Amino acid sequence: MQTAQSKSKSIKKVLIVGGGTAGWMTAAALANALQQGCEVTLIESEAIGTVGVGEATIPPIRVFNQTLGIDENDFVRATKGTFKLGIEFVNWGREQHSYFHPFGSFGRPFDMVNMHQYWLQAFQNQKASSLDDYCMAWAAAREGKFAPPNRDPRNVLSTYEYAYHFDAGLYAQFLRKYAENKGVKRIEGKVDDVTLNPDSGFVQSVTMQNGETLTADLFIDCSGFRGILIEGALKTGYQAWDHWLPCDSAWAVASEKTTLTPYTRSIAHQAGWQWRIPLQHRTGNGHVFSRQFMSETQACDILLENLDGKRLTDAKLLKFKTGRRNLFWHKNVVAIGLSSGFLEPLESTSIHLIQTGIAKLLALFPDKDFDPLVIDEYNRVAIKEIENIRDFLILHYRLTERQDSEMWRYCASMAIPDSLQYKIEHFKRYGRLISSEMDLFGKASWLAVHIGQFNIPQNYEPLMAHRTNDSQAWLNKLKAAMAAAAKQLPTHQQYIDKFCKSA
Ligand code: FAD
Repeated sequence: MQTAQSKSKSIKKVLIVGGGTAGWMTAAALANALQQGCEVTLIESEAIGTVGVGEATIPPIRVFNQTLGIDENDFVRATKGTFKLGIEFVNWGREQHSYFHPFGSFGRPFDMVNMHQYWLQAFQNQKASSLDDYCMAWAAAREGKFAPPNRDPRNVLSTYEYAYHFDAGLYAQFLRKYAENKGVKRIEGKVDDVTLNPDSGFVQSVTMQNGETLTADLFIDCSGFRGILIEGALKTGYQAWDHWLPCDSAWAVASEKTTLTPYTRSIAHQAGWQWRIPLQHRTGNGHVFSRQFMSETQACDILLENLDGKRLTDAKLLKFKTGRRNLFWHKNVVAIGLSSGFLEPLESTSIHLIQTGIAKLLALFPDKDFDPLVIDEYNRVAIKEIENIRDFLILHYRLTERQDSEMWRYCASMAIPDSLQYKIEHFKRYGRLISSEMDLFGKASWLAVHIGQFNIPQNYEPLMAHRTNDSQAWLNKLKAAMAAAAKQLPTHQQYIDKFCKSA
């Protein structure tokens, strides 16, 4: 039961500054969670606009939507979305080579030793084909097939997961409607000034261009790269990671819809990589590159030369600094979205970090005391999460064997965090996957990149010498079962047409 004292200390007003994907996801989640006693307001500026990209996601987004009670087909229809079974990486380890990072697993558990050890043994004896051939997500994806996974764990169709590609602007609109229906107040206009409490240094109010002043107990900074509260007002500081992840810019452009692949493509070029994200009405494309190694003009030309449909929009240049704020939550400001830091969209993790930021905020929702213990825990977890993802991204660059251009030569020999070096060494020796606390990416993800980029173990697990399974027969059976199951699935287009085609 709430006492009078705890009620008087509870947060009464939350102000979200920014209405991009971060702002509206936060507004929707807070509107859903804060059923009474707290007013949620969101300020956004049409004149400033949003970053306007961010179309590929990873499977946990489904949990976010489910928590809000959103119907999947309504959501896919409203956002002109498609389904995603993983990412195909082209030219990363070597030129003219590709591999798949699946959502789900390779093979399926059949023994106490990991499946990939059996694969490795067979592969080294030239009795198995590429690891991708034992992966259900790829078996379906390469055929352009999609259906949600089967729930029967004995069925190979239960071994994958899925996420979405969607139009980020439409997703924000969709969530805006949801949040406003649940009482969130939206204010259009530009925040011009921020006032701090002279004693505590907490944010006290923001002043709009029209002179209106808005106060709150808790402020959420969703203002994008600007970070007008967390950095502009509180000067929280930033750690840059460009020595490990040298890309600092991206050209983005939409092209005509072509094949509706149920996966994202990431194609490495000389100084970065290109994304291809299929939506129901168009394809999203971008070239993430490093200005240190390539000019803006050259990067734009490469993107336009490599579109697989007619260009629909002008190319837009975005510049960023990879890294994170020193603190994600400082005083009474929580930074969510681009205001909190940025990692290039190589593994589609930014929207996920918005989701985990919201989840942590709800799990550690404060009262007006803003107990430092609560804030420290938020920051501890947030930092661990983003640094784990950072290491996973660095792995893609560090494991390249490309020597054809300056950027790849730099990446192939750059110093990397010790924690990552340790994982690479372990995998190289016996194919062991060392996990870190709170790592978003599980064993299958790390496995996909190690093997896909030629960090082939020197030996398999010594325990294998003591096992008697007939792995050969099992691998052959698995591969055939997956190929057969994929044939039975509807095409991605057929699935969308039947359940969630947009108008
Ligand atoms: P923004 O979209 O920039 O929104 C900021 C909001 O703040 C806007 O509403 C703006 O009007 C408002 N604002 C700013 N200043 C003021 C002010 N003074 N007064 C009032 N309002 C203000 N993520 C993925 O998960 N998958 C991807 O595939 C992906 N691809 C990306 C590709 C690129 C090149 C980039 C740069 C990012 C990508 N992201 C991706 C990240 C994703 O775009 C962002 O995480 C997501 O869009 C959230 O952005 P945001 O809401 O934090 O910021």
